[in-house]
Amino acid sequence: MKLTSAMIKEKAKELGIDRIAIGSIDRYKDAPPLMNPLNYFPECKSIIMLAQRIPRGTYRGILSGTHWHNYTFYSYNRLNTLFRPKLTYAMCCFIEDCGAEAIPHYPAVAERMGDGDPVVPGRMPNVAMSVRIMGMGAGLGEMGYSKVFITPEFGPRVRLGMIMTDAVLEPDPIIPTGTLCNHCGSCVRECPGNAIPPVGKLQNTVHIKLGEEDVYWGDVDMGRCTLTHHGLNNRISPFLKKDMPNLEYDVCESNVTEEEAYRLTHALVNKRWGGVYDRPDDFMIHYYGYITSHVGYFAICGARGCICACADTLERRKAIKNLFVNPLIKRKLWLIDVKTKEKTGAINLWREQGLDRKDPTLRQNEYRHAAGYKHNYAVKEEK
Ligand code: SF4
Ligand code: SF4
Repeated sequence: MKLTSAMIKEKAKELGIDRIAIGSIDRYKDAPPLMNPLNYFPECKSIIMLAQRIPRGTYRGILSGTHWHNYTFYSYNRLNTLFRPKLTYAMCCFIEDCGAEAIPHYPAVAERMGDGDPVVPGRMPNVAMSVRIMGMGAGLGEMGYSKVFITPEFGPRVRLGMIMTDAVLEPDPIIPTGTLCNHCGSCVRECPGNAIPPVGKLQNTVHIKLGEEDVYWGDVDMGRCTLTHHGLNNRISPFLKKDMPNLEYDVCESNVTEEEAYRLTHALVNKRWGGVYDRPDDFMIHYYGYITSHVGYFAICGARGCICACADTLERRKAIKNLFVNPLIKRKLWLIDVKTKEKTGAINLWREQGLDRKDPTLRQNEYRHAAGYKHNYAVKEEK
């Protein structure tokens, strides 16, 4: 049976895939070797891209400042590692039932791949494609200025999947940059990490060629974004603020690479610090360890600028199809005051309370106490 694009799209509907688009392999001819699908599958003729929506309601908890792990579970980890891949897998089986080979590609960070020497002369080992770039080439959607992928139905609320096949299929047209994203700058203003550069300056954009189309997006500071997304920005993380209340590291002015940011934040998550006052042998930041051990991932920022503010503006100007009775952003977004209230020196309120609970005599000889905290020497003084 000869497989056609129409058959694939019909099957996608039946499976419940939210959006699907197809690109011909020639559109990716300028891809670097490490990100080139032909390096992976030389017989590849078409790229099939799938998008599964992130339910809008999963952003509500973080926007309200009251609940975090729902977003990590439903919109990140399980959507990327379970719900969406199940559909990609089912589509691959359908394609292979029709006699074409289908390779499901799990999204990966291409820059982290490519280790090792080539085992096939001239071919890069460990190739990994950027699903957003592949998605643009297939006409699945457009890269927004914030570098988040935007689709005509759900705006930026999507996670992407990819299939390579040797079937020759009718391609969809590429969606030109600026069709959905009007460079309104809402993502820039609401990004709590100051990671998205101001709009309107050529030097702030990254351009690539896909087929004949020039597509571009903002050159996002991925160090700041990663620090914020992974909870090292205490303007947006009550958990960091609680366990490291005096850390005034200003992510918005920081200058670290994405790699450094990952190393730093993941070291904080997975390490334990023995003998913290009232939580012996606890994680460095209690909630990060807790959520990661339960859900396998942690997303703290909640994509406030690049997804929430963007979805809100796209919905308000009716630029996408999935619209709602109520706006996504209803009130001014919260931010934590990062300034410590007093000079901590060697003493801080949290430490004093912790030590006093452990043993009220421990701090007897300390000469300075944080303002506003009454020590509980009473036990000893009464004797
Ligand atoms: S908020 Fe969305 S539409 Fe506006 S500039 Fe950012 S990515 Fe584009
Ligand atoms: S994830 Fe957060 S820090 Fe990163 S670009 Fe989006 S809004 Fe900014």
